[in-house]
Amino acid sequence: MLPRDTGIRPDASQLRGLSYAKAKLYGMPHLGASYAGGGIGRTRLGDGALCALCGRPAANAHHEPPRSNGAFLLPTKWGQFVLKPALIALCGSGTAGCHGARHDRRVAFEWRWADADAEALWWSGYLLSHGYPPHSRRLLDLGGWYAGSGDEWTRIEGR
Ligand SMILES: [Zn+2]
Ligand SMILES: [Zn+2]
Repeated sequence: MLPRDTGIRPDASQLRGLSYAKAKLYGMPHLGASYAGGGIGRTRLGDGALCALCGRPAANAHHEPPRSNGAFLLPTKWGQFVLKPALIALCGSGTAGCHGARHDRRVAFEWRWADADAEALWWSGYLLSHGYPPHSRRLLDLGGWYAGSGDEWTRIEGR
């Protein structure tokens, strides 16, 4: 089941036209992959990375939100942060396997915060400036990734 939305929203001035649905995925923990350069184009899989959906060996990393959205500059009262899409290791390609399923919208990924306090601390910039840098694994203690569609959702951990 997909945990309930906390109802916490960033200020419209922080989003600068980006939708909340996309903005909330930036900077979240990677699952089985990481960036291999300063931009968002080059990625690498972790050793023995498995597909976050089916557990088979991963073939590549999916950007969430999708790579075409680019990076996102989040202004907060604790400073400005350049946030990149989260990376999720998947099997297949943009047109096959689990990576294809995501691009065909047969499955979606959602990040859910454990509670409203955690989400409020993210948008304020407090977490980002106090030990939870972008993609910090520690964020997995304050929320989690879910995969699914319709009413069928499961938490995914990746590896
Ligand atoms: Zn798979
Ligand atoms: Zn992708």
